[in-house]
Amino acid sequence: MSRSNIASKQLQIGSYRIRPVPTGVFGLDGGAMFGTVPKVLWEKSNPPDEQNRIEMEARALLLESTTDSRRILIDCGIGADFNEKYGEKLGPKFAEMYAVSEASGVEKSLQRLGLKPEEITDVILTHLHFDHAGGSTKAVGGKLAPTFPKARYYIQKANLETAQTPNMRERASYFAANFEPLIEAGVLEILNGPCEIAPGVSVEITDGHTRGQQIVKVTDGKSTLVYCGDLIPTSSHVRLAWVMGYDLHPLQLIDEKRALLTRAAKDGWYLFFEHDPYSDVALVQEAKGDFIPSEKLLLA
Ligand SMILES: [Zn+2]
Repeated sequence: MSRSNIASKQLQIGSYRIRPVPTGVFGLDGGAMFGTVPKVLWEKSNPPDEQNRIEMEARALLLESTTDSRRILIDCGIGADFNEKYGEKLGPKFAEMYAVSEASGVEKSLQRLGLKPEEITDVILTHLHFDHAGGSTKAVGGKLAPTFPKARYYIQKANLETAQTPNMRERASYFAANFEPLIEAGVLEILNGPCEIAPGVSVEITDGHTRGQQIVKVTDGKSTLVYCGDLIPTSSHVRLAWVMGYDLHPLQLIDEKRALLTRAAKDGWYLFFEHDPYSDVALVQEAKGDFIPSEKLLLA
């Protein structure tokens, strides 16, 4: 598996330059990532390590306006400061448990694109699982604070409620340290349903993975890109039945995925994958009642 044999292109949609922000590779159990799909099938596209973990990217997306100073970030990876966030018991083990790569983090990735945290104007959080929202807060002088001090953050009300009172299955994924400091700082906008966040940038709700996940659509009427979050985490998950063991409602997720893939195949939408270590986006096509990627791409 490698990114080197995949074509690369620059993508601009409306006034936004589309810039992937890989915040670092980590590992999750391959069986959990592919649910009922047998290992003999998924290990070809996603080879596991000796602990059966597959490589996952935590890829945020930056929408950089070419006409004004708007800098919209979608999700922000796992973050750091695990001791301050998760306590002395879990904190030191956290990076090892999830094989979090060291030289990573959303701030460093943005720095490579020439941006400082205070230049981010908006942070859209698809949902508050730690591998999506962990980078939204950090330790500042022994206290947790927003990583992006001048940004408004956006989350769906249903997802915030779920994160504040997590069920048994999601308890290990939702941590108050990743969102309560945003509420305390008064920077969290709580959305209630689909809406437009900026011109050409809107969110839609999908509940199959977790309650109140929002996926993000960027469009100028001609080109469209969807940030799929955990609805379609990697290009391997384009296939309808390839859903994660983590998904709370797999049948609902398949329906939501089919609806998105049908529109994407028909209108040539780019699908952006948050967790795919090998490609950033893909175009998709229908194939015998299912869907497959027709072209995988890296974004320059
Ligand atoms: Zn998730």
